[in-house]
Amino acid sequence: MRTSALFENKPVFSFEVFPPRPNVPIESIYNTLDDLKDLTPDFISVTYGAGGSQPGASTAEICRRIQSEHNIPSIAHLPCINETKESVLQKLDDFRQKGIENILALRGDKNPELPPQNDFKYASDIIDFIAQNGDFDIAAACYPEGHPESPDLETDIAHLKEKVDAGASHLISQLFYNDRDFYNFREKLVQKGINVPVEAGIMPVTSKKSIERMVSLCGASIPKRLAKLMARYSSDPASLKAAGLEYAIMQILDLLENGADGIHIYTMNNPDVARYIMEQIKDEIDRP
Ligand code: FAD
Repeated sequence: MRTSALFENKPVFSFEVFPPRPNVPIESIYNTLDDLKDLTPDFISVTYGAGGSQPGASTAEICRRIQSEHNIPSIAHLPCINETKESVLQKLDDFRQKGIENILALRGDKNPELPPQNDFKYASDIIDFIAQNGDFDIAAACYPEGHPESPDLETDIAHLKEKVDAGASHLISQLFYNDRDFYNFREKLVQKGINVPVEAGIMPVTSKKSIERMVSLCGASIPKRLAKLMARYSSDPASLKAAGLEYAIMQILDLLENGADGIHIYTMNNPDVARYIMEQIKDEIDRP
């Protein structure tokens, strides 16, 4: 199923998972998916890392299993910075053979140890290429606070428009912790003529270390209220996790009240976190 069609029945609820790291047993991701399927997400997206993945648990293989074993639509992430046109064509072929119809087309982060190939410079280049070379539903990433390399939000939104014009049919946002940033961003998109659905990316704070790492990587800001929680529970990981989950639930409820097209939960392969959140918000949404 093409994931853009899901937004006809808003709001959409989706999860992100990642392939197991090399030191983690392959079965762990399939156990995670077994748990996540009971939460009936509208789709599950699977990341793709520049370092590759283990045989038997590639992004494409995990997507195939999500669809064939759990009957849930999947989106395969595809960063392009280290790809050539030929390697992308091979991946598109593999996707077709595995019945994958949806791609989150990305530039990818620059890795000093892996010199970029020259075929694709920006995500809009691969979106255009995929649109010319197949019948895929293409999603793209967006940044409510602006992409860290961008001089300002307006410039980043101008480039986001290029991704939509090239063929992206819906957007998934970077994590953010202040819903106001998302609303402000959404207004700017409408002003710039970007009218495709935008899912809000939510990453619950479950540990101080993980959130500091993520925030430094993606440039998201930490609002005062969350900073205070993190300071109050800095030496009490269990209470920090509980407060972080409550914060995420509060964010999601506010987003739903304000008509968000969808909520995309960065699960970090932790089904318990996703389950707790879905349990707490189920009264607000029309779901089993
Ligand atoms: P782009 O849209 O190409 O933007 C990158 C920068 O270039 C921005 O600053 C933009 O403003 C600028 N830009 C774009 N076009 C132009 C132009 N024509 N001229 C000048 N500047 C331009 N990374 C992975 O490696 N694997 C994943 O699976 C993955 N999944 C992700 C999922 C989501 C939902 C998100 C939000 C991010 C994900 N990322 C992933 C991270 C992503 O690859 C990085 O954020 C990367 O730095 C930017 O990717 P992009 O597709 O947004 O790039």
